[in-house]
Amino acid sequence: MKVRILGAHGLESTETRFMSVLIDGVLALDAGAISCSLSLSQQKRIKAILLTHSHADHTMGLASLSTHAFLAGATVDAYSTKETIDALKRHVFNGVIDPEFTITPSPERPALKFHQIEAYKPQLIVGYTILAFPVHHTVPAVSYQVGSEDGKSLFYSGDTGSGLASHWEHVHPDLLILDCGMSNAWSAQSPKIGHMTPELLKPELIEFRQKKGYLPPIILVHMALVFEDEIKGEVAELAKAGCRD
Ligand SMILES: [Zn+2]
Ligand SMILES: [Zn+2]
Repeated sequence: MKVRILGAHGLESTETRFMSVLIDGVLALDAGAISCSLSLSQQKRIKAILLTHSHADHTMGLASLSTHAFLAGATVDAYSTKETIDALKRHVFNGVIDPEFTITPSPERPALKFHQIEAYKPQLIVGYTILAFPVHHTVPAVSYQVGSEDGKSLFYSGDTGSGLASHWEHVHPDLLILDCGMSNAWSAQSPKIGHMTPELLKPELIEFRQKKGYLPPIILVHMALVFEDEIKGEVAELAKAGCRD
């Protein structure tokens, strides 16, 4: 399994891109940076996109990809929960913000096709075993475990507040890609903003190690640019506290 982080932020700048992770060049987790960081031929190689939730920093690239698909007579296949699909159809691909690509050029062969997934139900998508878990965010959202044929798997949290530990018994990832969007000063507001902080991650990671007997490599993403130095300092403390060898 070859993992490429296309974008790791919730804020765009010349140095940062919206959230997207690309697996083996064919499966994308979130679509924030999927168009701006890939050539057209790389975009065409993508067979499926798994969306964690409807926020623009995770879905932004869908419009451009769908436009290319429309012009080429192709279809973009995107997967998510009913809530996220409904939100994107109603608020984005509605003919006002973006074209109604889910019924254009025809409902039978649209430029953008949404496929519904259900939490806790393993599903085989373009050769990968996918398992989704509901997480706490400001809109309905899920995390994904993605397993490939070579036996490797990763867990991607998407945007989430506390509560990941309840899913640990169901997963066995070789890599964790986790939200660490805010600094510890924001921990008390986490239930409202739906993002993690280093000190909130600590008990989740300790529980992972206790339940699973190991702790895989961890990539922390979605760090708010204005607090990045602060968050990095707090993450260093977290690593020292044994949450990562
Ligand atoms: Zn986000
Ligand atoms: Zn979000």
